Amino acid sequence: MVFLPKLLGTGGSFRIDRPEGPPIEGDTMQCVHCMKHWTVVPGSGRQRGWCLKCGGPLCGAEKCMKECVPFEKKVYGEAPW
Ligand SMILES: [Zn+2]
Ligand SMILES: [Zn+2]
Repeated sequence: MVFLPKLLGTGGSFRIDRPEGPPIEGDTMQCVHCMKHWTVVPGSGRQRGWCLKCGGPLCGAEKCMKECVPFEKKVYGEAPW
């Protein structure tokens, strides 16, 4: 039998079924600026950031917190030629 992580989209909750022990469950969030994923640990109280322009979470990195540079814009909007 193969056990694969069931990823329910981005910025949602995930559940990983394991052959032994209880499944791992948690919430994942994705930085709207650099697309970094992280796991939200319930009760940790760790605050990162939130971009009001993008309406999404930020990873907390300085460059992500300082300026609003959405990932898609960074990739497609600034062609070097
Ligand atoms: Zn980021
Ligand atoms: Zn933004």
